[in-house]
Amino acid sequence: MTKIINPGTSLVGVAAFAVGLLGWSASHADENRDNLTHAPSMESGEWLSYDRTLAGQRHSPLTDLNEETVGKLGLAWSIDLDNNRGLEATPLYSDGVLYTSLSWSRVMAVDAASGEILWSFDPKVDKAKGRHACCDAVNRGVALHDGKVYVGTLDGRLIALDAMTGNEVWTQQTTDNSQPYTITAAPRVVKGMIMIGNGGAEFGVRGYFSAYDAKTGEMRWRFYTVPADPSQPIEHPELLEAAKTWSKDTDWSLGGGGTAWDSMAYDPELDLLYVGTGNGSPWNREIRSPGGGDNLFLSSILAVRPETGKLVWHYQVNPGDTWDFTATQQITLANLEIDGKPRKVLMQAPKNGFFYVLDRATGELLSAEKFGKVTWAERIDMATGRPVEVPGARYEKEMIVMWPSPFGAHNWHPMSFNPQTGLVYIPYQEIPGTYSNEGKGFVKREAFNTGAGSSEITELPREYTSGALVAWDPVKQEAAWRVEHENHWNGGTLTTAGNLVFQGTAAGKLVAYTADKGEPLWDFDAQTGIIAAPMTFKHEGDQYVALMAGWGGAAALFGGDAAVATGVRNVSRMLVFKAGGQAALPELSEPPVTERVPEPVVAAKTDIKQGEVLYAQYCAVCHGTGVIGGGVLPDLRHSSDPVRKAYPAILLEGLLESQGMPSFAGSLSPEEVEKIRLYILHREYETYMHAMRMEEEPSADLETEGE
Ligand code: CA
Repeated sequence: MTKIINPGTSLVGVAAFAVGLLGWSASHADENRDNLTHAPSMESGEWLSYDRTLAGQRHSPLTDLNEETVGKLGLAWSIDLDNNRGLEATPLYSDGVLYTSLSWSRVMAVDAASGEILWSFDPKVDKAKGRHACCDAVNRGVALHDGKVYVGTLDGRLIALDAMTGNEVWTQQTTDNSQPYTITAAPRVVKGMIMIGNGGAEFGVRGYFSAYDAKTGEMRWRFYTVPADPSQPIEHPELLEAAKTWSKDTDWSLGGGGTAWDSMAYDPELDLLYVGTGNGSPWNREIRSPGGGDNLFLSSILAVRPETGKLVWHYQVNPGDTWDFTATQQITLANLEIDGKPRKVLMQAPKNGFFYVLDRATGELLSAEKFGKVTWAERIDMATGRPVEVPGARYEKEMIVMWPSPFGAHNWHPMSFNPQTGLVYIPYQEIPGTYSNEGKGFVKREAFNTGAGSSEITELPREYTSGALVAWDPVKQEAAWRVEHENHWNGGTLTTAGNLVFQGTAAGKLVAYTADKGEPLWDFDAQTGIIAAPMTFKHEGDQYVALMAGWGGAAALFGGDAAVATGVRNVSRMLVFKAGGQAALPELSEPPVTERVPEPVVAAKTDIKQGEVLYAQYCAVCHGTGVIGGGVLPDLRHSSDPVRKAYPAILLEGLLESQGMPSFAGSLSPEEVEKIRLYILHREYETYMHAMRMEEEPSADLETEGE
């Protein structure tokens, strides 16, 4: 039985989250300039760190492009990239050169004016590693410091490159590469150290982040975000306290999770480094830490001293997380006036759907309100700082459907904060999540391993998902304005002192809006789904906007039908715009379509059912739930007959490993591969017949078709 955690509405009637157009209030923020930005870059129009500065605002002081002039924006140049996986990077700009990363942790330096590629670097990540990348073989960008470019690779290396040549200066393996660790985040530079975390909590790892000497690559310290087996010596004292919040029955071989896979920020005045941590391994707390416990430091914001890695304060966003509600989403520092007092705040819109404002000196919770559809909790209790969870939300007894989902109300897609408007621009996504307790049936395996019934999810119809650009007032804790998107998985945002906000969409448009009111001013058809955030810089008197355009990431791979909603395509491009730009995109050919009339599958129903479970466990995370490809990797319903025949060689002998399709030898038997094949054929037939019926009777609803 499925319980729908959604008071007042049903799964079918996914009501739009009603937010009044409350109007823009005059700026209550100060200039946010003092200690939060690096003064030289302010003036020169540089973009030197992932979020421009370590304050994480993604706000540019440039005003050449503004409400009056943005209409003149045109393509200055573009590069069609040899890249077919997601592009999530924000390019950096320094002294005439753009530095960016592509999929598989590749890096390139490009002349900002001409688009000429100055150098490129391929760390030659073993493509078999793709099996451990929960969310595509992506990379969110590089760090720049003292003539070097730093990149974290999917296989856990931290590499320093000469910024002039792209030659390797030093390399450190930051992870045990025999374990399913990955790095997709941009490194950050603080006090001559490179800060880097990792991912892998879906596959069973223990999270940590580390500081490396920028010059030599020597490790300075490491902070583990969760304890290890108590029979082992502890690495640092914070873990003694953390261990008290884990059940005595914890199975430490499951890794614990808490990976710090994205957000970091730094306040030089307070000398605090802020790091967001992720979900537990596995997701389901009943399996991870039987009997309960907050499970520190999962799903937390940590404030540490950058010199030593010593913890100063922590705030746990989701105590005892059991939903993949990470706190790895962007951390933004600003100075706001709250209740008449200037406060140094830290803001986050994590997956769980609440917008948090904390005092960043102490970690005190100042406010937290829902910024979208949230049904797992009523509110955040201001006395305890803990969520007031809705009964049943922990799905111990029955399967639930709730909002948000593991994709989050907001994911890694960068948000931005504009000190002039006082608003935060959030790429919001509305996606229901389904959870069930695998309980004693849970088996540790080398695959996407949540304990929360992910393998029971075989549909994510597009009707149930949507997205929006939400302009959030962090003082009033309410939306100032909102622009709806049909698709849920859209691009990150950029805001500027020209009263502008830029965002790309799944449907392929890069759009500029007024920052105060959300009025659309300009758009560009990129001919590809966009997930990354744009950035802006000034070069030889011109203000430019740069964007890595391309479709991919978790929701594009796993998303099935919802991921291929209207207009979604995938072309990997670097796009750079300036006022008066006259370049045009190359002609785009239509993708080839395999025309085949599928036959009903003749096989035992139990075999197809087992194939469905195996597909969900091993294949869906990349090839799409319900065998509906999300527009990035091959849609297996349309594979050619020779590919179908080669399944045993592909899945068990690694025939396509060099193309990023890993071998599952040792995890799957030949019999299981055959069951997966039968299920794929079955889904080809089923979805073909559904499409035929929809053509005849477009009003036919998925809900009424039954099994
Ligand atoms: Ca996760």
